[in-house]
Amino acid sequence: MLSSTSGFQRLSQAALSRSRFLRLAASALLPFVGLRPSAAAGLNPELAQNEGGAPETKDPVASGRMGAILVSQFGPVKIHSYLSPADGFHVNTQMIEGPTAVVIFDGQLLLPYAGEVASYVQALGKPVDRIILSHAHTDHWSGLQVLTERFPDARVFALHGVADQLRARGQARLDIFRPIYGDRIATKVTIPTETITEGLQQIDGITYDFKRFVDAESDLQLAALLPEQKVLMAFDLVFSPNEHAFTVVDHFDHWMIVLEQLKALQDYNTITIGHDTPVHRSAIDSTITYVKRAREIHAASADAKTYSESLKAAFPDRQQAGWVDFSAKLLYAARR
Ligand SMILES: [Zn+2]
Repeated sequence: MLSSTSGFQRLSQAALSRSRFLRLAASALLPFVGLRPSAAAGLNPELAQNEGGAPETKDPVASGRMGAILVSQFGPVKIHSYLSPADGFHVNTQMIEGPTAVVIFDGQLLLPYAGEVASYVQALGKPVDRIILSHAHTDHWSGLQVLTERFPDARVFALHGVADQLRARGQARLDIFRPIYGDRIATKVTIPTETITEGLQQIDGITYDFKRFVDAESDLQLAALLPEQKVLMAFDLVFSPNEHAFTVVDHFDHWMIVLEQLKALQDYNTITIGHDTPVHRSAIDSTITYVKRAREIHAASADAKTYSESLKAAFPDRQQAGWVDFSAKLLYAARR
């Protein structure tokens, strides 16, 4: 039986400058050393891009990389997490490297970052077995355009219903992002071609337990458990205590129910999330606190501006205040 009690404590320096790496490492490890979230926020300022200073790395692919890579090893299984810079919403792409293949979860918002993911995976020297999309939000699928070009043999999986959501709304979402990001956003919608089934599955000798959740941060969300490694891949169900969460739809009550269900999964002490570095399971509680407060503020706020200002004031230590403005716009647009 494979086991790990330490989770993501082995971090690859990748292309990070020393100071940036230390900030990221501090952010990843703080839950394990028990510092308060407010202390964590102080040590984890918004990541600077292309900061000066030569990285100390033996990874030839890392040269000039804009994103960050964290690696954790569990026996023959390695989890590589690519974390985009802030302008890509700190989206994670998880790469599960087994004995003979790699499984990629999520595809980044911006194409250059998806390109970095592809180059990193290619350097691992193993074929991509499949690409799995966790949910239909643009920041997780836009870059699938690059990944499917670079790995044409890899099938793209998602929960039943996600492909329909992308067919219905994908292009409109890209049209919203285009004025902001120009040619860094996808030019076409990549539709998953395969349906992922719930329950236990072996891929490349690794056991996955896929779970389907509705009406939380998104209408439809995959979570993936690795029971042998005791890793919960929660994607956008759980957010870092250091950053704001996205609250783009009015599912506050049910999201809290889902979080309680995740909390009931005992022993999963390492949680990889959709944005920012992996967290300790205590992040489930801090996400519940956040969603509960957001629900109250939403109920009391007549417009997006009031909601946004009140939520930022309620969590002054959380980074990425821009995510609150972004969320408020969508949340209140949906109301009309
Ligand atoms: Zn997201």
